[in-house]
Amino acid sequence: MTFIPRKRFSQHFLRDKEMVHRIITALDPKPHEHLVEIGPGQGALTFPILENTHELEAIELDRELVALLQAHDKKIGNLQIHSADVLTFNFADLKQDERLLRIFGNLPYNISTPLIFHLLSFTSIIADMLFMLQKEVAWRLAARVNTKQYGRMSVMVQYHCHVEVLFDVPADAFYPVPQVCSSIVRLVPHRQAPYFVKDYAFFAKIVKLAFGQRRKTLRNSLKDLIDDDCWMRFQLSSGLRPENLTVKDFVEFSNQLGQ
Ligand code: SAH
Repeated sequence: MTFIPRKRFSQHFLRDKEMVHRIITALDPKPHEHLVEIGPGQGALTFPILENTHELEAIELDRELVALLQAHDKKIGNLQIHSADVLTFNFADLKQDERLLRIFGNLPYNISTPLIFHLLSFTSIIADMLFMLQKEVAWRLAARVNTKQYGRMSVMVQYHCHVEVLFDVPADAFYPVPQVCSSIVRLVPHRQAPYFVKDYAFFAKIVKLAFGQRRKTLRNSLKDLIDDDCWMRFQLSSGLRPENLTVKDFVEFSNQLGQ
């Protein structure tokens, strides 16, 4: 059966065998680990991994692909497919024992930002994540303070995880060839949060508001929350923009402000 890739599901299948090998080497999957793949597609990563681990869970939205994957040779291993939308998927339902989840996938690029935010709410049960992302998105996750790429995603992701961009994957490694370049990124949730946040929802709100209009100064974007007296008390320069604040600065700022 030939499968025609669907644009609306952001389907770009890996066809470069060497690249598949490189990604699997970076993931280093082992039997007895709790591995979960997002968007297995036609199984480019799925089947070689299953041969090693004999057990794998996967979440796939396209029912036709789910049927195709389910028709695999059962001798390879136990592939458990959840036919679902990963954006509303409750990862906590997968955790059945003491093992933390190892999540990976060549992600559908059209949903990668909301998906990363969704995954951040499950970091306490995740050991690590290895994702293929659009190169710009990968660098935004890893971006350092005072750079153009540094934004809401960088702050929120780095609050939860250690981020490492591992290597680039050229567009011709996929079928159909995408318009963009891709990178492999590893996210490792901190087992112990480096910074203590008093009120997480408030911290998240400050970060969102601050970067909502990133060209504005913080003083301007946050004027409904911080009056002039308050600003004096923090002794912060009124010319500061959100990209000048480290993750730690945002944490301290929201802790003080939330009092
Ligand atoms: N891993 C495969 C396919 C990657 S393409 C490979 O590398 O070849 C992205 C995959 O994500 C497709 O299989 C697509 O159907 C699936 N997908 C798209 N949106 C999804 C969603 N909301 N939830 C789960 N899977 C989704």
